[in-house]
Amino acid sequence: MIGDSIFFVFLVTVLGYGARSQAPPPSAARQIAQLDNNDHLQYVLSNILKPRVVGTKGHDEVATFIASELKTLGFDVELDSFSAYTPVFRNLTFTNIVGTINSNAAEFVALACHYDSKYFPNDPGFVGATDSAVPCALMLNLAKVLMPYIQQIRGRNDFGLMLIFFDGEEAFQEWTQQDSVYGSKNLAAKWSNSLYQMPTTKQTIRNIDRIEVLILLDLIGAQSPRFRNYYMRTQALHNQLVGIERYLAKAGLLNTRGFMFYPRLEFSGVDDDHRPFYEQNVPILHIISTPFPKHWHTKYDDAEHLHWPTIKDFNRIFRVFLYQYITNREASFNLRSIPEYH
Ligand SMILES: [Zn+2]
Repeated sequence: MIGDSIFFVFLVTVLGYGARSQAPPPSAARQIAQLDNNDHLQYVLSNILKPRVVGTKGHDEVATFIASELKTLGFDVELDSFSAYTPVFRNLTFTNIVGTINSNAAEFVALACHYDSKYFPNDPGFVGATDSAVPCALMLNLAKVLMPYIQQIRGRNDFGLMLIFFDGEEAFQEWTQQDSVYGSKNLAAKWSNSLYQMPTTKQTIRNIDRIEVLILLDLIGAQSPRFRNYYMRTQALHNQLVGIERYLAKAGLLNTRGFMFYPRLEFSGVDDDHRPFYEQNVPILHIISTPFPKHWHTKYDDAEHLHWPTIKDFNRIFRVFLYQYITNREASFNLRSIPEYH
């Protein structure tokens, strides 16, 4: 039985990867990689890069900014506001922000990050540049730059794009299952307890099952990151990032030396916003730098300590990846058919 499953995984992985690598010709990858819009990236980052602890003015400003950017870009925007008990401040109001293209579609590729910043007693003015202002800015920039291609999937009822900005990822005291990922726990529960009727078969499924894959970005923006793969189901997707990085490096389109995407499957993981979704059987691609950036959870995780050549390279690699995903998706990837081992 174990042998059969392994063979099955191997087959799905190889076929999945093969099918993906055929579609866009290399010239398309080169062209997409070079569509940088750094002015826009700086503009969105400057509006997010400020202290934004849940319940503060800075937090409200960033939430308003993200929602308005999403609307400007043509996304349907859903605000998921709720109240939850926290160790330090007792009840706080949290707001997840969800931008969607093709809101009624059967399945979505969902990109996600968290937009709150961590609370510290005697706050040093922590702005969480890599944690996760840069990932949030990258998601908005990606949507802006790829909009002509995103428009090409508009109107489909089988597939859509979702950008999720989670609130309350950070612990207020010490990281525990209770004191962490407040926003993603709420959204995963909400979507697990509500139903959707498939447009073609009329079959009813949970809303959370409409997420084909949750791609979570975290701790991005420092020099020399290492992105490893933690999940069997998304190994082919991770390998695709590995392949794109190598291709672009060879084509002379990257600024940095060395690779950030490591192909090996790790038998470990990092607890983060994906946890409540993983527990509900959602396939996860977790793009987080391990080891964590040097200035993680210190006042030095700020604009001054960002490494722009790395950010620009990541942006190019990930842009080509998303371009390939949305332009190459003819049928469901059905990643849930691959067994997960965690
Ligand atoms: Zn953090």
